Amino acid sequence: MQRMTGTELAAASDGLDAKVQATLELLRQSVKDYRKVVYASSLGAESIVLTDLIWTHVPQIEIFSIDTGRLHEETRSVLERLERRYQRRMKLYYPDPAKLESWVADNGINGFYNGLAQRQSCCHIRKVEPFQRAIAGADAWMTGVRHEQSATRALAKSVDFDATNGLAKISPILEWTHDDIWAYIRQHKLPYNPLHDRGYPSIGCAPCTRAVEPGQDGRSGRWWWENADSKECGLHPKIRIVALNTAKL
Ligand code: SF4
Repeated sequence: MQRMTGTELAAASDGLDAKVQATLELLRQSVKDYRKVVYASSLGAESIVLTDLIWTHVPQIEIFSIDTGRLHEETRSVLERLERRYQRRMKLYYPDPAKLESWVADNGINGFYNGLAQRQSCCHIRKVEPFQRAIAGADAWMTGVRHEQSATRALAKSVDFDATNGLAKISPILEWTHDDIWAYIRQHKLPYNPLHDRGYPSIGCAPCTRAVEPGQDGRSGRWWWENADSKECGLHPKIRIVALNTAKL
C-alpha cells in the first residue's frame, strides 16, 4: 500500500465521492438490467473496494472467488477478515481435482514455469474452468479491472459483451486511480492483503506473483518471465492488444 500523508489523502479523495456514486449507480443499474449478476473477486485492493460497495449497498450481486490452491496464506486471511466484517460468506470455487492431478502428473508441480502453453493450461484448470462454472446461469459478470493497471486493460469498457463466455461483462471501477482505491480503503478502514505493503500491487497465485519496484507497471510482478502482452489469466482475453496464436484460453 502506498503511504499517503493527510494532505495527499485529501487530494486523492477529490472527485472520489463522484466516482463512488457513479460506481453505485452502475451496480444498481446492473441488477435492474440483468436477472443475475455475479462479481468475480480477486481479493486484491480493487476487490476490497467493490466488496464493500456491493455487500453494503447492492447485496443482490453474488460475490465469488476462486481458490486456485496456490494462493498466498495472506490472501486467504483477508477473505476470512472480510467475511467476519460483513457477516457474509463469499462463494468459493475450486479446480477440478482430476484435471489438476493429471496436469501435475504431466507437467510437474511447478510446470507453469516451463513455457507459455504450460502456464496457460495451468491457469485454465485452476482459474478459467472454475470461473466458467461460477458464471454459469448468470446474465452478467463484474470485474474490478481499471484502465491504468496495464496496457492490456486500457481498452476495457464499463459495460461490454463477453463473447467468449456469452454474457455481459461490467467493469464498474475502470476510471478509479490507484490513489482512489487506497483513499477509499483508508477512509473506510477496510481490511486488505498485507502483501500490498510489501510491494505487491497485483496479487495472484504465490509462485506467479512477485513484488515490483516503485513506479513499475502494476502487473509487471505477475508472470514476470513472460512478455507483457500475454499477462492475463484467460478471464479478460478480449482486451488483449496482441493476439497469441498459441493461446488456448
Ligand atoms: S497464476 Fe500460476 S499457479 Fe496460478 S493458475 Fe496461473 S500458472 Fe497456475
